[in-house]
Amino acid sequence: MPRLECNICGRKISVPKCCDQSMLIKDAILCCCSDTCHHQEIPKCCGEQMKYT
Ligand SMILES: [Zn+2]
Ligand SMILES: [Zn+2]
Repeated sequence: MPRLECNICGRKISVPKCCDQSMLIKDAILCCCSDTCHHQEIPKCCGEQMKYT
């Protein structure tokens, strides 16, 4: 299961899903299926963007 992880404190969260698939992590979190789906900012933890693992 893909996750986002904080390099500093090690907190992990699941990558959100859209259209029944895990969303893509680029400069934002995107749905792979459609531009019309919602997208969201990469979450931050400890003042830095969380990293895709
Ligand atoms: Zn979608
Ligand atoms: Zn953190």
